[in-house]
Amino acid sequence: MRTVAVVGASLAGLSAARSLRKQGYGGRLVIIGDEPHRPYDRPPLSKDFLAGGIGEADLALESDDEDLRAEWLLGACATGLDTDGTDRVVRLADGREVRADGIVIATGAVARTLPGTDGLAGVHTLRTLDDARALRDELALGGRLVVIGGGFIGAEVASTAYALGLDVTVVEAAPTPLAGPLGETMGGIVSALHADHGVRLLCGVGVKGLSGETRVDAVLLDDGRSIPADIVVVGVGARPCVEWLEGSGVVLDNGVKCGADGRTSLAGVVAVGDCASWYDPHAGIHRRVEHWTGARERPDAAVATLLSWGATEPGVPRPPYFWSDQYGVKIQFAGHSAGADSVTVEEGAAGDRSFLAVYRRAGQPVAVLAMNQPRLFMRWRKQLSAATS
Ligand SMILES: Cc1cc2nc3c(=O)[nH]c(=O)nc-3n(C[C@H](O)[C@H](O)[C@H](O)COP(=O)(O)OP(=O)(O)OC[C@H]3O[C@@H](n4cnc5c(N)ncnc54)[C@H](O)[C@@H]3O)c2cc1C
Repeated sequence: MRTVAVVGASLAGLSAARSLRKQGYGGRLVIIGDEPHRPYDRPPLSKDFLAGGIGEADLALESDDEDLRAEWLLGACATGLDTDGTDRVVRLADGREVRADGIVIATGAVARTLPGTDGLAGVHTLRTLDDARALRDELALGGRLVVIGGGFIGAEVASTAYALGLDVTVVEAAPTPLAGPLGETMGGIVSALHADHGVRLLCGVGVKGLSGETRVDAVLLDDGRSIPADIVVVGVGARPCVEWLEGSGVVLDNGVKCGADGRTSLAGVVAVGDCASWYDPHAGIHRRVEHWTGARERPDAAVATLLSWGATEPGVPRPPYFWSDQYGVKIQFAGHSAGADSVTVEEGAAGDRSFLAVYRRAGQPVAVLAMNQPRLFMRWRKQLSAATS
């Protein structure tokens, strides 16, 4: 392999570039990213960075002395992927082309927006450093914040804004926030953190629209209520950035459809991170997981696939893991709650917001959740990994 192009210059792309060099690839390496920034860490954008506790330099994912011998094309948006003989050709928005015989797709995800809210001042989404800068500046002015969506990012923004002294309301369309990832019971317990701190949580009600001429002044709910707002954060999830691959021959289905080793439907092309829907051999389904640890760890396997195409067996993936920090509480989760037939608190008490709970299917652990129990959680996470392998 003479040239590898990594498309997406964030955690998964950087991890893939590192894996390439670690696994002995010595050829040309081109890293293409549409943001102007070198790779930075996103989790602090809703936590310490948003709170003003750390600065931009603290977000850097590369160390000062790191040299991947890569050509960085930043501020360069990939708009297409073509095949020319044995080469793959990445087309860029500015007309340039990058020819490569290996491609790593790592274009992540983009925040979903609410239709009809473009251009209304005071309305934010949170995915990028530029989003976080804009939101941080507004939160510093104080006032009334309405967060639309009670998922992890919405909850973290609510928690940070509460700590900054804002008046915060969270609106969630589902009856229980976080029921998707955590199940109804545990979703209810984790989202009770809002009420513990006097943050209003309105569940089971949709948002009809926003009001305001040039700047938002209220969130209008389906049940007729109007919630006054100076700032609105739309936290309604993310969609994979894969439009640029349409017509390329890479099969797309809720992201890039991959095998258990990251390979896509095109030879010489692998996909990693939030944009990739990997095959889960245990469950027999594809899963697209939007977690930091997957974006950090999976590129090792995808790069091994790319460099050996077919000669390596896919390893057993570790159960997905994520964490969240809300109101001073560390929440950690590993595994899959869907399909569990029981969930029991094994240690601590839910009411104390310090406990460890195990999800089981037919008596076998399939997931584990902890609030403020990091040591115990790590022990259980290892056991879960051992059980699934
Ligand atoms: C605010 C926030 C808080 C989070 N907190 C947590 C947490 O506490 N715990 C946790 O486990 N996870 C958390 N996450 C998720 C975690 O950050 C992501 O899983 C991780 O960033 C995924 O990395 P990625 O490289 O796959 O995608 P991304 O980080 O989305 O990077 C993809 C990059 O590709 C670029 N790109 C997209 N399209 C193109 C194109 N056509 N051409 C060129 N470049 C392109 C994008 O601009 C972006 O720079 C959080 C995410 C956010 C946004």
